[in-house]
Parts: sequence; C-alpha cells; structure tokens
Amino acid sequence: MGELKNDIQFLPGVGPKRSALIKRELGINTLEELIHFYPFRYIDRSSITPIASVSPDLAYVQVQGRVVSRNLINIKHLSVMVEDSTGRMEMVFFKGVKWSYDKLEPGREFIFFGKPQLFNGRMNIVHPEIDAPQENPQARGTLTGVYPSTEKLKSGGVTGKVMCKMQHAALALCLGEVQENIPESIRRMHGLCPLHYALQNIHFPSDMKALELATRRLKFEELFFLQLSLLKQRYVRSRAENGIRMPLVGSPFHACYNALPYALTGAQQRVIKEIRSDLAGGSQMNRLLQGDVGSGKTMVAVLSCLIAVGNGYQACIMAPTEVLAQQHFANIRKYLEPTGIQCALLTGSTSRKDRRPLLEGLADGSISIVVGTHALIEEPVLYKALGLAVIDEQHRFGVGQRAALWAKGPGVPPHILVMTATPIPRTLAMTLYGDLDVSIIDEMPPGRKPVQTMLIGENRLPAMYRFMREQIALGRQAFVVYPMIFINEKLEDVSNVEQGYEDILKAFPLEEGYKVAIVHGQQANDVKAFNMQAFVEGRADILVSTTVIEVGVDVPNASVMVIRSAQRFGLSQLHQLRGRVGRGAEKSYCILVKDPKTGHDALQRLELMCATEDGFEIAEQDMKMRGPGDLEGTQQSGLPVSLNIASLARDGLLLEEARHCAQGVLDNDPSLQKPENMLLVRELRKDKYDIKDYSKIS
Ligand code: ADP
Ligand code: MG
Repeated sequence: MGELKNDIQFLPGVGPKRSALIKRELGINTLEELIHFYPFRYIDRSSITPIASVSPDLAYVQVQGRVVSRNLINIKHLSVMVEDSTGRMEMVFFKGVKWSYDKLEPGREFIFFGKPQLFNGRMNIVHPEIDAPQENPQARGTLTGVYPSTEKLKSGGVTGKVMCKMQHAALALCLGEVQENIPESIRRMHGLCPLHYALQNIHFPSDMKALELATRRLKFEELFFLQLSLLKQRYVRSRAENGIRMPLVGSPFHACYNALPYALTGAQQRVIKEIRSDLAGGSQMNRLLQGDVGSGKTMVAVLSCLIAVGNGYQACIMAPTEVLAQQHFANIRKYLEPTGIQCALLTGSTSRKDRRPLLEGLADGSISIVVGTHALIEEPVLYKALGLAVIDEQHRFGVGQRAALWAKGPGVPPHILVMTATPIPRTLAMTLYGDLDVSIIDEMPPGRKPVQTMLIGENRLPAMYRFMREQIALGRQAFVVYPMIFINEKLEDVSNVEQGYEDILKAFPLEEGYKVAIVHGQQANDVKAFNMQAFVEGRADILVSTTVIEVGVDVPNASVMVIRSAQRFGLSQLHQLRGRVGRGAEKSYCILVKDPKTGHDALQRLELMCATEDGFEIAEQDMKMRGPGDLEGTQQSGLPVSLNIASLARDGLLLEEARHCAQGVLDNDPSLQKPENMLLVRELRKDKYDIKDYSKIS
C-alpha cells in the first residue's frame, strides 16, 4: 500500500540521477504523477509509409529507413539521407544538430515522423521526430506510446524506451491503488470506461478501439471536473441573494433609447436583454461582454448604466487609459443629452479645483454616471449608491482593482460588467470564465466597410509610402505601428520606434506639409496624451507608435494601418490593431510589413490575417496554431489553463458534453451532499481544483 506517493527513483532502472533529471525536466516526482503523464502520440507499425509514396499532400508521415549519409552543412544545418526499399529522402535539422548528428549513424535504422515537404524538387522532413524501430512490436500490440520529451532527457538516457519501461513498472505497482472518481451512473450515461482500464490503455493500448476509449474517458474526466468546480462556484454565488435588485427599466433608459441615431443591432438588443434580466434578478451580476472592435459595446454600457440610474443607483465606467476615458466621456455625454442625466469625468489629471465638487457630487448622489480611469478606485472616491461598474478592456485591470470597486458600494457589491474586444474562442471562454456569465456581440453595425489587408516585404516600402501620400492627399490619416521589443527582458521599443519615426519624417517631410506624431510607452503621460490627441483631432497625418494605441482609440478618419515587423505580433493583437481602421465611411487598408527572415509559421499567421476579418475565427486559429512549447507534445503551453490531455482547441464537443453533465449533477444536488456524489466531492478536494484565481484576464 501507499505506492502511489512513492518516489520514482525506486523504479527498476531509474535511480537517483535519472529521477533528478526527470523531476527537473518534467516535474514528475511520484508514481502517481508518472502514470498521469501520457503519450502525446502513438507509433503504429501498420502505418509506415514507403518513401516512394511520400508526397507533400500528406499532413504527416511515418517512414522507416536506414541512414545512408549525414552531411553537416554548417553548425546549424544538418542534412541526413535516409533510404528504404522503395527510395530515398532527406531529413533536415536546424536545431539539436549535434544530438541528431551523433544519433543518426550511417547504417542504423530509425522511424521518422513529421510533415513532408517538397524543397528544390526533393522530398524532405524538417525536424522529424526520431524513434528506434521497435524490437518486438507484437509483444505489446501494434501501438507504442511516444512521450513528451526534451533534449536533456534524451541525452541523459531517459529515452522513449526507458519511459515505457518505467510506466510499465509503475502501473504494475500502483494501478490497484488508484480509485475510480466518476460514479458508475455517469460513466454509463456517457459511455466512459473505468479508470483502471483507461490508465492501462492510454499507456499500452491493446488496439485502436481501446486507445479511443481510454482517451475519451481521460479527457472527459479532466474537462468534467474542471467544469464541475467552476459551475459549483457560480452556483454558490447565484443562489446567494446578495445583489442589488433593479426591477425597473426606467425613464432615462427609454429617453436615451428613443433618441438613438441608429437602430440597435440584433446582437446589441439580445445582450441588453440579458443584462436587464440579470439586474432585475436580485443576485449580483458578474458578466463578461465580448464583442469585436467596433461592434458597439459602448452603447450597451450606456444603456446598462441608465437602468441602474433609473432604479436610483449610480454607475461608473472605467477605461484603461486617460485618452480612452476622455473619448468615452465625450461620446457618452452625447448619448446622455436626451436624458438630462449628469455625467462626470475623473482621471489622474483632473484638477484639484474640479475634483472637489466632483467628489461631493458622487458622495451626495447628484452625479449619476462617472467615467474615468484607475482614479475612480485609487482616489478617496465615495459613492452614495454605486449600483453598476462597467470595466472596459478589462485585461488591464487586476483582480485587486475589481475587489477595490466592490468596497465602493453601499455595503452591497455593485453589479459588474466587464467588456472586452479580445475575441476568445467559446471553449476557452467557458473554461476561463466558467464562473462568469458571458454575453457575445457577434454582429457588426451595418455599413462597416471591410478592411483590405495586404502583406508586403520591406522592398515594397517606397510603393507603400506613395500609397500613404495618396490617402493623406484625400484627407485621411495613417497609423504606423512598431512592435515592442524586449532585450534581456528590458523594454527596448524606443530605439526601434524612434528609428521608424526618423524614416517616416524623411518620407513625409514637414516642408511638404506633412505632420507626424509619435507615441510610445516611455513618454511621460502628458506628452503621450498630447501627441495622441493631436492625431485624434486630425492635427497629425501620421501617428507612429508602439502598441500603446492598441486599445479602443477611435479615429474614424484614419484609413491606413501599417504594421511593421508584423511577424512579431500575435494574431489577436494584429486583429486588434486592424480594428483601429475601417471605423469611418472610407475604404480602409491594413498593410502588414514582414521582415526578411520571417519563419513559416509566422507567415501562415499573416496570411490568415489577409484571408479573414472574423475575430472569432482568428482566435480559434490562433489557438490551434500556437505551437508546442519547450516540451514536445504539449499543445497548450501558452494558455493559462493547464490541461493534461484534453485540448480546448480540439475537444470543444466533449467540453460541452462534460459541462452539460456537470450542470446536471449540480441541478440535482447543488451542494453535492448525496451519497452517490461522494466520489466527486473527494476528487474536487484535490489541490488542482482550487481555482479561485482562475480567470487570468480579470
Ligand atoms: P466598441 O465595441 O469597439 O467599443 P463602439 O461602441 O465604439 O465599439 O462603436 C463603434 C462605432 O459604431 C461607434 O461610432 C458607434 O457610434 C457605432 N455604432 C454602435 N452601435 C451601432 C448601431 N447599432 N448601428 C450603427 N452604428 C453603431
Ligand atoms: Mg470600446
């Protein structure tokens, strides 16, 4: 007994040195951790492709061949020729060159796995995974697991074969102790195999069918418990009658609504209904509003605030920057005109003279709506009756700040509406915000013109400048954005963007009447705000900047967005930037400029940007493309949720099923007290489900 917690060093063939290496590289200490470390793919002996049949149309191939020759072209480029009875092909390495060179001795035979491509008329695979052919494949069925590994593990002797042996020994020792954690009734309903069977077959599948069963069971288990713990938190919150009840829609809402210069989109109407029913419901609202740039979130925020006001409460709207707060304030004041409601602006630069009456107005309730920055929570602001806080572009706000807002309410936490323009794939949102309610505006206001996106190399900069001059001659404005660059973890964007500024000044000289502004993170706040404002008000033709402009700024007259070193940006960031243009009546353009040495994956990302403007599609693809991290075989190193086997990108349907199942369990037994749910409670007590701080973005 007690094997599960035993140290892996006592497994046959491991010992202190290898176990230390495994701990360092994989974080595996105990047998229990080891048996939950799964293969990320399987070698199927029956699916070896003859070299003569390899074609670039195949997504992946596995070939088995003998090394004919290895040619070290330079220290960063190794070419290895491999042959089987049908032909020859090349394997190419730009990384791990020494290790691969040593391993791939001429005459020896290996299995190579990877994406074939045609290069200069020859078939090759770049960075194939390499495995030794199995000595006796029949002994353990035809499928052999391949475990995530690192260069250090391999050179330290922890090869795939050693890992298989360890797993075999560990399972023999401790599988009997592993306790089932999903009740049989749920297993039967969802066609899930028992845990023992799943663990045995995820490591050593007896056949394809067994592997599928095992995989499905383990993925379901992972997603199910995650959802169960998130939904349980939400359940607890929504059952508590702790919210401000706002039963009325109220006359300010109607006054504003009836005076709108346009009809709300169907999506805006739906979302406002959702918020209205939350506010009327009596429990505290915690809602995330997702909508692409330009989808009209501000109007939703204003109407929500007016419901609060119509019920006798105050509302605040927080923006992440001074410029945005000012812009919001100007817009919102316009929307509020027909209602006669007072609105104020409070930011770090509000003068002391203006501040006094403002604070008094909030304290005595004569100001109903306040727009501002962090100042709204950092200052000694007291509200008479804060009923709703809207937080725009929330990823700039921390958890602590959200908590500080709560303390501003009249003893009861205000309702919270968090707005984001970062499209998050649905599966990810369900996991990241499992404890929040999510509303989505998935429809653009009519009349928006598509943004034409192009990808160019630096050799076409002169043509681009000509095009920008034409646009400026038509009275339009242009953004030129540079990436933030970190050198030794220090932000080094300044030299980059300042060099860019010089270039633009040369191409657009003041003598010819061009006005260029520059904005970057190292400027003092007032300088930044001044330059930004110059562009917003049309006094500058071109704004050269780093990504500080990413969030929310609205300059309808800007028709060109140039993004330099575009390959350095993530997809969602590119999407955000592109959303800055195409907001006015004119046709707009986004020009992605790539650096000469842009890699294949980056190029693919940029091409996707040219192909679609749909933020959700881009987010989905982004998630799928996010390559493996340091560890071969881990798909999700970039994500805040660490899932062991399930993938948010690929297991969306299973996630829905697991969530539905978890919801059903909680509907029947909200506090999980029934005897049949004891297994679930025991599992949920484990540390890994302690996810209080789960929503990384909030
Ligand atoms: P975002 O979601 O990016 O915050 P905004 O609220 O700033 O978007 O809206 C973008 C632009 O679309 C604004 O100029 C706004 O006035 C306009 N707009 C919002 N809703 C509609 C609508 N239903 N019909 C037409 N225009 C709209
Ligand atoms: Mg906005």
